[in-house]
Amino acid sequence: MHTIAVLPGDGIGPEVTAAAVQVLAAAQRGFTLELVFADAGAGAIEKHGTNLPAATQRILKRADACLKGPMTTLETPGAPVSAAVRIRRMFDLYANVRPCRGNGVDLVIVRENTEGLYAGRERPVPGGAVAERLVTSRASRRIAAHALALANRRRKKLTYVHKANILRMTDGVFVRAVLSQAKRYPRVAVEGMHVDAAAMQLVKAPHQFDVLVTTNLFGDILSDEAAQVAGGVGLAPSANIGDRYGMFEPVHGSAPKYAGKGIANPVGMIRAAALMLDFLGEARAAARIERAVQVALASGKARTRDLGGRASTQQAGKAIAEVL
Ligand code: NAD
Repeated sequence: MHTIAVLPGDGIGPEVTAAAVQVLAAAQRGFTLELVFADAGAGAIEKHGTNLPAATQRILKRADACLKGPMTTLETPGAPVSAAVRIRRMFDLYANVRPCRGNGVDLVIVRENTEGLYAGRERPVPGGAVAERLVTSRASRRIAAHALALANRRRKKLTYVHKANILRMTDGVFVRAVLSQAKRYPRVAVEGMHVDAAAMQLVKAPHQFDVLVTTNLFGDILSDEAAQVAGGVGLAPSANIGDRYGMFEPVHGSAPKYAGKGIANPVGMIRAAALMLDFLGEARAAARIERAVQVALASGKARTRDLGGRASTQQAGKAIAEVL
């Protein structure tokens, strides 16, 4: 049995979470899941005064993994850091792994999750403001090691994405760390690419990529781009992995304008649940979900409006569960 903390989140979160829970119910064969629901996100601020209440933190710590819906993040200066960032810090979830599969594309973006511009260190200066971009050898080495191990299990190609021609010191640290780790994986072909060129190549020739590894903000941007190239943000999952814990979520946000309308695509959230099962050692169940997603999409029964179909969120989830 695996205990899962389920955070439905805000906006379309509860709808896509309900669809994923339905699929997880159909996927349990040879193992069982105990799902423990908890509040987090903007809705939790209204109810509890914080986006990650103490009760939720206790549930997270007792669980083997977390399945997280999208959450609305306040953008006002001084607003609390997002619940996702708090959970990543709480469990040191340093690797953000985003597989993009579809339209003949099959690549994975591995994004450093703990530093870079996401360290959130900003301060006002006369005439403007400054953000710090922290890059350490330790964090760069461990993300590079994660990406290399993944490439070694796949098509054995790693592209490290940087801007060391401009950000010479910070990306210099990152590039040196990747190249030092690469020596341990002689069978993985390693190439470097500037982030602007990578953004262009992802549109022009996405099939050339297997695994990409990059710093936090570049990874954030490129992974949304890659998700769209592979069929749309509604289809893409994301794993946040540390040495002992994992949090799994769709790539997309809370899409407030779609909330409560039953039209959001649940596939990103369902694929996030599959990544979670894989992390928990239930690789066969994870693969069965991925196949069921493909069958249900091909039949049209799981095609929501963003994919040109007519299925509701609930119908799409049900169609995938039925294939399972
Ligand atoms: P968003 O992903 O919520 O929405 C952007 C657009 O993408 C939507 O208007 C919609 O057209 C499309 N889209 C997104 N998800 C979809 C789905 N499941 N099905 C169909 N179409 C979908 O991004 P945003 O508008 O930049 O952000 C809205 C809120 O979400 C913000 O508060 C932001 O901070 C938050 N956010 C949260 C996460 C997270 O919790 N991991 C990630 C990104 C954004």
